[in-house]
Amino acid sequence: MKQEQLKKFQALFEVQKKGLLYSNQFINENFSMNSDEMSDELDLSSVELEQSMRVRLRNREALLIKKIDQSLERIQAGTFGVCDSCEEDIDLTRLEVRPTATLCLSCKEHEEMQETRSADGRESKSMGSKINLRIA
Ligand SMILES: [Zn+2]
Repeated sequence: MKQEQLKKFQALFEVQKKGLLYSNQFINENFSMNSDEMSDELDLSSVELEQSMRVRLRNREALLIKKIDQSLERIQAGTFGVCDSCEEDIDLTRLEVRPTATLCLSCKEHEEMQETRSADGRESKSMGSKINLRIA
């Protein structure tokens, strides 16, 4: 990949990361009224719902920040834009849509196909039985 393209992506990641760190702070401040001690596993109150929402939001943001950090590291290491699986260059149009992509489109499709297959079968069933157990 050209140096100027790398710089463009690096700038993009830095802007995104700043935005994410800011919104993370926002989430923490806005949900901070509920202390962790208030959460009781058996009590499905709004407090717990709010907390799980906060946790989910934070997890999602944290994951994104991690991905961005990894992409920045890849830029430094000179491996940005190279597929993790087959080591071919990732299509630039794909990177523009999904800058944190670490797999080329065909490897990603292959991975997603496997994930869908495993999620279809046992996961939904085991989740259902878990819910039933909790209610009983
Ligand atoms: Zn690949």
